[in-house]
Amino acid sequence: MSDFIQENEAILRLSVFMGLFVLFAVGEALFPRLKRKYNRTQRWFANLSLMACGGLIVRIFLPFVPVAVAYYVQEQGGSLISLNTGQGPYLIFLGIILLDLCIYFQHVVMHKVPILWRLHKVHHTDLDFDVTTGLRFHPAEIVLSLLYKIALVVVFGIDPLAVIIFEMSLNAMAMFNHANLKLPLGFDRMLRLVFVTPDMHRVHHSQIKCETDSNYGFCVSFWDRLFKTYRDQPSKGHEAMEIGLNEYREAKYLKLIELLIMPFRR
Ligand SMILES: [Zn+2]
Repeated sequence: MSDFIQENEAILRLSVFMGLFVLFAVGEALFPRLKRKYNRTQRWFANLSLMACGGLIVRIFLPFVPVAVAYYVQEQGGSLISLNTGQGPYLIFLGIILLDLCIYFQHVVMHKVPILWRLHKVHHTDLDFDVTTGLRFHPAEIVLSLLYKIALVVVFGIDPLAVIIFEMSLNAMAMFNHANLKLPLGFDRMLRLVFVTPDMHRVHHSQIKCETDSNYGFCVSFWDRLFKTYRDQPSKGHEAMEIGLNEYREAKYLKLIELLIMPFRR
């Protein structure tokens, strides 16, 4: 199984991405949680174009991706703090959990450091919340995030399989927890004991600052509970809450060019 995943990594990633994107897009069209307020065609074009720009810039400017570095570190026989002292599923699991914890911290830092918030706020200026919001990140944030993951792989010597599984899970969970998907409330309660659900992550996209400063997790929900950043529900309720940022309410911020230059505006 692990050999199959490693040998077919690229096609697996693309298939899982495409399959889940269609699944969540159809799911939110059939069972929407909230009514859309803005033009979907315009938003989707902007969000998906931004994702394509990110992919292109990574290909042009980043010679290595985390998984390639993980193979290299493994071939060289170790890292600064090696987790690869043996073999076994628990090392894969440990690598995945460690990466998820580090991505939680990365997300907190993206909010707290002003120059990084300039990049991350592009994600938060989406005025509706759906599967494409989970793909709306400024290319510079994507590059920084990849460099951060590469550094983690070098420092901890994370197994390449753990890197592949984690990156696929992160991509899948980002689409799931941004989906405008109506889940039965009891199922949401049960699921969010372990995983981040759309209702849980929507709180993080609230216009109210203390709500934006909560629910930073992408995959598992317990980092927010552990570090006291967990918030159960938005104060106004999901139907009445405003999505986005106060200072970016104009429809022009749904255009690709505005999103690309947003971090560099005074
Ligand atoms: Zn955020």
